[in-house]
Amino acid sequence: MEQLRLPTPSLALLLAAVAVAATATAAQPVYEVVNNAQGTAGGNRFEESIGPDYTKQVLAEAASFIWSTFAQSAAGDRKNVDHVTVIIESMGGVAYTSNNEIHFSAEYIENFSGDVKQEFTGVLYHESTHVWQWSGQGQAPSGLIEGIADYVRLTAGYEPADGHWVKPGEGSRWDQGYDVTARFLVYLDGLRRGFVAELNRKMKDGYSDDFFKELLGKPVDQLFTEYKQAYGH
Ligand SMILES: [Zn+2]
Repeated sequence: MEQLRLPTPSLALLLAAVAVAATATAAQPVYEVVNNAQGTAGGNRFEESIGPDYTKQVLAEAASFIWSTFAQSAAGDRKNVDHVTVIIESMGGVAYTSNNEIHFSAEYIENFSGDVKQEFTGVLYHESTHVWQWSGQGQAPSGLIEGIADYVRLTAGYEPADGHWVKPGEGSRWDQGYDVTARFLVYLDGLRRGFVAELNRKMKDGYSDDFFKELLGKPVDQLFTEYKQAYGH
């Protein structure tokens, strides 16, 4: 009797463990941080002022914020990402994202004057957006991709502290990218609550400028003209 009873709880435990593991995989990716610049000034500043634990915390918070922005409460609505890695390394520029790897410049961390932790957090919200956003199967304008990433950074409250971003209504083209397009998207989301989420959803399978007209009833160039006029430009 003892031998017959034992396998039942063991199997139940095993199944429970499998179920928990499957749920965890679907809901939360694994976050990893690699510092390839250890021993350099930038690598040391990362360890002292930011650190891997804080970085993983930001990745998780940014992911939640982005899923909320994109109205993707169910894991099945999101991009299938099970692993996000941040790599601190010696390179020019600030950061870029490729294959769910966020590469961050050690030199940028070294030379940033001001609150480097705040700046790092803002850049990570931008780069995390590239991990999770749809790209229209690669067809969407890069200015829109970058604009959505800065829209997330902006609405999360991590606009750069030095005030170098354009003000609402500034810029010459809707797809100029970054801060210009981010400000425009704030305006559009004000015209139709959830616009950015709907636009991103449409960008899952492809891309067309007509998406703007389908959602807001007017061509994107006309919307940009009206946006600038609303701010006196
Ligand atoms: Zn970007």
